[in-house]
Amino acid sequence: MSDKTIRLRKGKEESLERFHPWVFSGAIESMPEDIDEGDIVNVVSHSGALLGKGHYQIGSIAVRMLTSDNTPVDEAFYTSRLEHAWSLRRNLGLINGKESAFRLVHGEGDFLPGLVIDIYGKTAVMQAHSPGMHFARNIIAKALTAIENGRIKNVYYKSETTLPYKASLDPQNQYIIGGFDTDVAEENGLKFRVDWLKGQKTGFFVDQRDNRSMLERFSKGRKVLNMFCYTGGFSVYAMRGGAEKVVSVDSSEKAISLTEANIALNFPGDTRHEAVAEDAFKYLSAMPAGSFDLIVLDPPAFAKHRSAIRNALRGYQRLNAKAIEKIAPGGILFTFSCSQAITKEQFRLAVFSACAQTRRKVRILHQLTQPADHPVNIYHPEGEYLKGLILYIE
Ligand code: SAH
Repeated sequence: MSDKTIRLRKGKEESLERFHPWVFSGAIESMPEDIDEGDIVNVVSHSGALLGKGHYQIGSIAVRMLTSDNTPVDEAFYTSRLEHAWSLRRNLGLINGKESAFRLVHGEGDFLPGLVIDIYGKTAVMQAHSPGMHFARNIIAKALTAIENGRIKNVYYKSETTLPYKASLDPQNQYIIGGFDTDVAEENGLKFRVDWLKGQKTGFFVDQRDNRSMLERFSKGRKVLNMFCYTGGFSVYAMRGGAEKVVSVDSSEKAISLTEANIALNFPGDTRHEAVAEDAFKYLSAMPAGSFDLIVLDPPAFAKHRSAIRNALRGYQRLNAKAIEKIAPGGILFTFSCSQAITKEQFRLAVFSACAQTRRKVRILHQLTQPADHPVNIYHPEGEYLKGLILYIE
């Protein structure tokens, strides 16, 4: 336990008093010389009042707050936060079978800034985004396996690409507890192979669960193009929804084989599905107009940082214009942005520009977002990142 204290400049306690969980470096008046990245620090106002404890790190976000009082940040602390997160998912009906896939910890949204944990059946895949969470990884893993008398058997730690590079923590992707048993997880009765070892992020995008269900309801009798398919989540739901045909496209060969494996797992021998390894822009440019009447565009984050917003918006416009121009009359477009740096208004404006460019008649049927296991702390609006629109295109 640390007794290191960071004092804020006059007036800079305001955002913490409004429960925002970050302290920016510019708000700091003084801190001890021997402070290290990942330390648990006390944060006090200019007049010395305790505002809470958090993890210190070098960068513009200097402290990620863990408590708003003097509660020790120890194993009991992590156990309590994880149990809280678990009981929310249970109440949401997400823990229904032994293989359920869901997000257990969504950083600030679960009052654990810098930590992400996805559950795939008996395996938890954990990502630290801050040095403090990296140092706490073993007690967090232990606390995880204590939930519901040891329901989680394996904890895979995967932070090689999520920790600040400059912190030189050299995290190894590895099992901290247990090892590999099965990689099949279940979502709404559908089965998915999840490759947390080599796949992107934690291996599967659980954040599209509700939107995939939505797609299933629109799929009957339609010709579906799932662009940026990754593990084929939307494709599998479209198949179950009764699509006439489904084409999954991704530039990564690895993603295409994951998609094929997931189709085979749920619909063995079904000839309605085809997978193509190709660049999205090339595929959309080459495809004949009217080939599809249901298109999903779920690209990777075009803007990873604020500096990239303008280019990203142009990218979204260009991509959407291509799909809108080619979709069959009466077509449905599911279009998404997972860039945290882009607001839903900016995204909608980019899609609006794409529509205007094609001069087609377009209406918004639904506005989509992230599911309930990716909660947004109301005092931390930055936690909202996924946005989508379902458009009807005449
Ligand atoms: N829709 C997916 C998640 C998409 S992740 C799901 O529901 O799980 C983004 C995917 O876009 C990745 O698989 C990546 O390989 C792919 N990708 C990135 N750039 C691309 C491009 N230019 N053309 C096609 N696919 C691309």
